[in-house]
Amino acid sequence: MIESKVLDGKLVSAVLEEAVKNKVLDYKEEYNDDITLATIIVGSDKASKTYVNMKSKACQRVGIQTRNYSFPEFTTEDLINLIQTLNEDTSINGILIQHPLPKNIDEQKCFDQIATEKDVDGLSSKSFGKIAFNEEAFGAATPNGIIHILDFYNIDVTGQKACVVGRSPILGKPLAAMLLNRNATVTICHSKTKNLKEEVAQADIVVGAVGKPEFIKKNWLKKGAIVIDAGYNYVNSKTVGDIENPSGIASLYTPVPGGVGPVTIATLLTNTIAAANMQASKTNTYNRQFVKEERK
Ligand code: NAP
Repeated sequence: MIESKVLDGKLVSAVLEEAVKNKVLDYKEEYNDDITLATIIVGSDKASKTYVNMKSKACQRVGIQTRNYSFPEFTTEDLINLIQTLNEDTSINGILIQHPLPKNIDEQKCFDQIATEKDVDGLSSKSFGKIAFNEEAFGAATPNGIIHILDFYNIDVTGQKACVVGRSPILGKPLAAMLLNRNATVTICHSKTKNLKEEVAQADIVVGAVGKPEFIKKNWLKKGAIVIDAGYNYVNSKTVGDIENPSGIASLYTPVPGGVGPVTIATLLTNTIAAANMQASKTNTYNRQFVKEERK
């Protein structure tokens, strides 16, 4: 048995939030202006409402205003029109579209309309492409949040074998790109992967981004692996991750709840203040919060 240490997402998010709070004060003093995040919900998904509510409350805590839009029914065209209006609205600094969107909406077409400098949740193909090319852009909040956790705990992934289970455009794929930018040796697994258990067993770092409760078993993990669980599933009114609790096998792991989730929200705030500063200074000098890695 290994003595496993918890990577405390609540602590990381508290530190990030405090830094954002101070930057918001500085911003207000320097520009005498508010920072505003526009949030958009389409459809009637209950979880989306809960998430946007949590994000709005977090904005309030750090002094960021929110303008919340919610439409039970909306077309792709309606959503594109709204995004274009918000892109042009100089009082809006960031745009967050809560996913998933209803099936009638062409999701990526809409995400791609968001101006890159306001794409604080890293949803557009352009933001993703920039991350993939190791250029300056806002990373999607969850993978970017995972990078914040690694940074907070000084975890150097250089040369480590990382296995990312899940390849969604908002999580698995951008995270794989971010880890690759940091010189990890990355394997991306998905529903068609053969011998998933063997892939996981070889990894120094395992990331669960599957969306299936405790799908990755504790006994698949290599002794001493670093385990990052992005999963968030409700089972019998309990929240569980995509990985069985790896205590006793992992050297370090993120718990669920209290791991990746809180840092995702703090990362959205971090990206929003960075967007506001960038827009205000009207330069391309990107804030430190941007995902920009030095190629070594
Ligand atoms: P998603 O879009 O449904 O993607 C799931 C991924 O898992 C897909 O790439 C899928 O492969 C793969 N997968 C499904 N079954 C598999 C299997 N049997 N073996 C291997 N791979 C399999 O989900 P997501 O949006 O990325 O979310 C993943 C998890 O993260 C969920 O639990 C979600 O709640 C959580 N999440 C948390 C946060 C947060 O703030 N903490 C934010 C976003 C998501 P294919 O591509 O082949 O279908």
